[in-house]
Amino acid sequence: APESAPSHQELFTVSSPNVVYTDDHIKSKYVYHTTAVTKAAEGKFTAVPKETVYDFKVDRKVPKVGMMLVGWGGNNGSTVTAGIIANRRKLVWDTREGPRAANYYGSVVMGSTIKLGTDAETSEEVNVPFHDVLPMVHPNDIVIGGWDISSLNIAASMDRAQVLEPTLKAQVYKEMALMKPLPSIYYPDFIAANQEDRADNVIPGSKASTAHVEQLRKDIRTFKAQNNLDKVIVLWTANTERYADIIPGVNDTAENLLKAIEQGHEEVSPSTVFAVACILENTPFINGSPQNTFVPGAIDLAEKHGSFIGGDDFKSGQTKMKSALVDFLINAGIKLTSIASYNHLGNNDGKNLSSQKQFRSKEISKSNVVDDMVAANTVLYEKDEHPDHTVVIKYMPAVGDNKRALDEYYAEIFMGGHQTISIFNVCEDSLLASPLIIDLVLLAEIMTRIQWKTESAAEYKGFHSVLSVLSYMLKAPLTPPGTPVVNSLAKQRAALTNIFRACIGLQPESDMTLEHKLF
Ligand code: NAD
Repeated sequence: APESAPSHQELFTVSSPNVVYTDDHIKSKYVYHTTAVTKAAEGKFTAVPKETVYDFKVDRKVPKVGMMLVGWGGNNGSTVTAGIIANRRKLVWDTREGPRAANYYGSVVMGSTIKLGTDAETSEEVNVPFHDVLPMVHPNDIVIGGWDISSLNIAASMDRAQVLEPTLKAQVYKEMALMKPLPSIYYPDFIAANQEDRADNVIPGSKASTAHVEQLRKDIRTFKAQNNLDKVIVLWTANTERYADIIPGVNDTAENLLKAIEQGHEEVSPSTVFAVACILENTPFINGSPQNTFVPGAIDLAEKHGSFIGGDDFKSGQTKMKSALVDFLINAGIKLTSIASYNHLGNNDGKNLSSQKQFRSKEISKSNVVDDMVAANTVLYEKDEHPDHTVVIKYMPAVGDNKRALDEYYAEIFMGGHQTISIFNVCEDSLLASPLIIDLVLLAEIMTRIQWKTESAAEYKGFHSVLSVLSYMLKAPLTPPGTPVVNSLAKQRAALTNIFRACIGLQPESDMTLEHKLF
């Protein structure tokens, strides 16, 4: 457990009649500007500016938080654990390129800044760490636990992962050897058959049951009590499962899903059982893998309990590049006509994905990520016209966690010309995913402390159960039923930063810099 209690010191305060600081809360009044568009005759539109006033209230007390990982003994689970311990202890280790020190690079919350405003005297930009905009948990203070179907302790898991330098591992080994994953639920039909030999830490029973849900709920409560935690966040970083079939009467409504679990229906996946246990325990649950954990019945259940869920599939490398590059190309007026994405990787994730049904989950999650950007450009694309898009993943044991992603973007440019962009991206997959796990936990946590309402409403409410605000970190963002999915990386980041700004009564960063532009 971390040595010091969580603490938070505010880097700045907002001085405005619309913002009030009390001992417990930051309260803000925020005018949200939108544009309502109506279709007029003959394909014309009328645009009407609209204002909605919202009241936001942020709980200032930073809680003591635990993170429980499903698949704790995997490459991501062991790497993020070592990373947090190394940061907490400010470790430095030797490499062939000289000493390296612990950092949180790759985390938006811990590694990036947002523009607060302009210096009143010099008119220079003032940027502040993202982490300091609202009173957020520090990752060094997170208590870590979780489950795995493999019984290896987390130090041995870190060795198995082959991600970190031996000189770093040696310094965290003792502490991590004491970390043992709780037994988990294992329904062999959902993950690749080649995973069977590591499943030596399982709760009896090979299909969903109420007993499984109850055991997982108990695990969460015990972890919370043993570590004196105010709050727990659970995150799925276990193997990619196959898709579950959506069957009317089985997983289509909350009631049916609970009944199906009770009756041991074979089409309920382990990840859905975890989601249900977390929802019933009012514990935020985030899915870092691509399968359809959140069947309609699970979303329905989350809404009924007002419990937070988020997903799906970490957006770490290839897709993150894609959602930035495609946004750029299409918004530059360049007509993207095809994307070919190849990967090869040699870690256990790659081994699991060498099985067709599990690969299919990944293929779906990787394939829809440009749809909204294409649909938005009605100049370049006809209705329902799409660029060709192919995704290939191959298992290549020799490269280990050092995933290779090769992408070719082919586009039509001015006057029938062509542009081909080739990208070759090589890096340790788990070193990209680990900071995303941290971001997802920190952001889900602060979302539980923000309440808001329209000015006229009597009572504050929380965000919708489906946390679409986590989209930046996720390949196939889950959004509240019936609401649009935004894949553009720039828009996702703007949504995140501007919601944070609204909470402290600041307007969105418009980047107009009008103050520098008048003649
Ligand atoms: P991994 O195979 O090393 O780890 C997964 C762990 O989950 C294993 O230790 C396995 O024993 C355990 N497991 C399997 N089923 C379980 C269950 N029912 N309960 C508890 N534990 C279970 O994989 P990884 O590289 O750590 O990746 C984890 C997941 O994250 C994969 O699904 C992967 O597709 C997804 N993902 C990873 C990245 C990335 O690493 N950059 C990006 C996007 C998505």
